[in-house]
Amino acid sequence: MESLDRLMPSWKVLDAYYRFLVFKFEGTTESFLRVLLRILKMEVPTIAIDDVEIHTNSSSFSNDTIIHRLTLIPLISELANLMYYSTECPNCNGRGHCRQCSVEFRLSAKCIADDETLDVTSKDLITSNPSVVPFDFFDPTGSPIVKLEPGEELTLKAIARKGIGKVEVKWSPLTQAKANYYCPAQFRTNEELMETFTLEQKKQWVATFPDYLFQIDPHTQKVVLDEFYRYKMVVNPEGTLEPGPIDVFEEKDTFIFIVETARALNASQLLMNALEILKQKLLSLHKLEDHFLDYDFAGLASDIEILDRGSGERIVSGKILEIQDRFLKIKFRGFDEDLIRNLQNTMTWEVPTVAIDVVIISKNCNSVDHCLIHDRLTAIPLTSDAASSLHYSIDCPNCQGQGYCHLCSVVFLLSAKCIRAETLDVTTKDIICSNLAFVPFDFNDTASRGTVIVQLEEGDEVNLKAIARKGTGKNEQKYSPVTTVNYFSSVEVRINEELMETLTLEQKKDWVASCPANMFQIDPQTQKVVLSHPEAYDQKVTWKAEAMGKPGLVEICEKKDTFMFTVETTGALTTSQLLKKAVEILKQKLLIEYMDINISLLDIN
Ligand SMILES: [Zn+2]
Ligand SMILES: [Zn+2]
Repeated sequence: MESLDRLMPSWKVLDAYYRFLVFKFEGTTESFLRVLLRILKMEVPTIAIDDVEIHTNSSSFSNDTIIHRLTLIPLISELANLMYYSTECPNCNGRGHCRQCSVEFRLSAKCIADDETLDVTSKDLITSNPSVVPFDFFDPTGSPIVKLEPGEELTLKAIARKGIGKVEVKWSPLTQAKANYYCPAQFRTNEELMETFTLEQKKQWVATFPDYLFQIDPHTQKVVLDEFYRYKMVVNPEGTLEPGPIDVFEEKDTFIFIVETARALNASQLLMNALEILKQKLLSLHKLEDHFLDYDFAGLASDIEILDRGSGERIVSGKILEIQDRFLKIKFRGFDEDLIRNLQNTMTWEVPTVAIDVVIISKNCNSVDHCLIHDRLTAIPLTSDAASSLHYSIDCPNCQGQGYCHLCSVVFLLSAKCIRAETLDVTTKDIICSNLAFVPFDFNDTASRGTVIVQLEEGDEVNLKAIARKGTGKNEQKYSPVTTVNYFSSVEVRINEELMETLTLEQKKDWVASCPANMFQIDPQTQKVVLSHPEAYDQKVTWKAEAMGKPGLVEICEKKDTFMFTVETTGALTTSQLLKKAVEILKQKLLIEYMDINISLLDIN
């Protein structure tokens, strides 16, 4: 982990005026700033009003307007790191109403004057947690919520929760204004040349620059650069300055980064939180590499555990729950969802396979349905573990993209004639393959009779040639090596058996039915309630229990870093081939995304 700290560029806050924050980063690259900006906008959590219950509103403002204004008031969010996201709060089972995952605000205002209006502002919100208040709570004026006319009244309750900008803009710690960054200009003074200038010449020279960029030090009579302006100066690529007393050049690895905050977090905290998130992302990349690439797939069916080399603490683990040629179920612990989603997408859209692309049926086969044969052949999964040895036909260097040479295509032949009175099934086993690395998925399966391509009646015949090429699911569905790939965050469920036994069978049925996707079911023999579909997690079951007067009937805790991941392949690849290839592609993608951040990423141990 220490090595990750080394990756982080050095930075300091140069300026924080009004809502603008100006940071300076040294020793970094533009792509680092791009990633950082995305994290600042989308992923640093803050606290914002999420639910509003209006009790009385006799003002001329609609409830919707009031709710909208409330949700957009930035709240001081230093506490966000210590709060739970309400959906994963273990203290209230994700209902989002307890002190560990929410803050309550009350507002009660009435205009009692006869002839004056009353401005209700963010300063009138009464918080249940003094650390979480509107950003302008201590300012002389707050943010306006409504204006009450004499006699009008507004009372409401609002619940604030933790969230991120990716989910809803109101949680973004930045305003929607465009953030920007640039390389600041750097100056090098040629003292010798400068000293050949008379004071008058120096004054003239300084006057050629706008805004007091340079000044003449009254004591030393030297030309100096005003520090404040230095960071505002962007190098003109054409170079406005002739080589002369002062050279201007760009500092390629230094950036001035300007963002406009919503003031939920102060400058340095905002940046530190973002850097911490970035660090975690880099760490997941290493976890992934450790996890799969250094892992011996021969021992795949056992538990995998990665321990932190320093502390010996378990940082991530996975457990292969089930593995077959075409089906795999893994439980991942300690991964973030982005990575798991990425793995799912990579498997579906990006792992290349080989599939039949062109079918040429000879003209004399009139009795067979050409379209049907074409559709069946192109849908047959071909074993594709060696797909990396083929070129994609469009960029084949050998045939200039024609797609018919042996470096980018595989030829299959099929020839059959029915000479008996009974129907002849022509299957994948009858195909003549030119390259034994690429055969129909069931070609070598002695237990299978093959997949039927066409049925021939007496006298029918079929003669065809098929060309297979390499592709990915992104190009065409037929190339996708998976039939299904899913994940869900795992839930921990504890049924309070004692309390459950106080329910009648009817009540149990009623309760089980509150989750239409059958998260629970009743064992027909024992009449006990058992967990059947943990992936169908639905908070309604806990609410239903409460509505029935049985709070605590079940305790459900969603674990945001633990995922059940299942994948079923078409047969073009086995699950372990698919997993290896997907991880390799994912690694390349992630490396490209993060490599520019710092090249020494590759050296991390
Ligand atoms: Zn809670
Ligand atoms: Zn070719």
